[in-house]
Amino acid sequence: MADEESGESRRRVLRATGCGSAIVLAGCVSVGEDTSQEAGEPARDRPADWCFDRLDDTVPDVEANAVSIDGVERKPEGELTSKEEASYQCGPADGNHCGTCTYYIDDRDGDAVGACTEVTGEVRSADWCALWSPREKLQNE
Ligand code: SF4
Repeated sequence: MADEESGESRRRVLRATGCGSAIVLAGCVSVGEDTSQEAGEPARDRPADWCFDRLDDTVPDVEANAVSIDGVERKPEGELTSKEEASYQCGPADGNHCGTCTYYIDDRDGDAVGACTEVTGEVRSADWCALWSPREKLQNE
């Protein structure tokens, strides 16, 4: 009897929280989402790597051979840091993002994504990684 009441009570709680079905449960649990303050503010309702499948691992020559917005030369391919090692995330952190980073190579082929002198693959200006360093222009303000 007590088990039946306990089971009914559990079902009531699940219904009240909207997490009673497998479909809704998927929306209640965000796998891999980094919600720590230290990591910044990736889209709160998406995992920090949600944009990775939109970023090519290969950077077009026009960007691979370019310098960053502060004139930094891109490291050779074998010396670049992977996105995982750099804690790259899809979104800014504390207001900082690739577009304000000294290592960012602006988009040069019109696909709206750029590259980085330090990190592998394509990079979005709206994203961020742990190697972020302010543009010279920002350092002088
Ligand atoms: S924040 Fe990281 S990935 Fe973005 S441009 Fe700077 S070093 Fe590169």
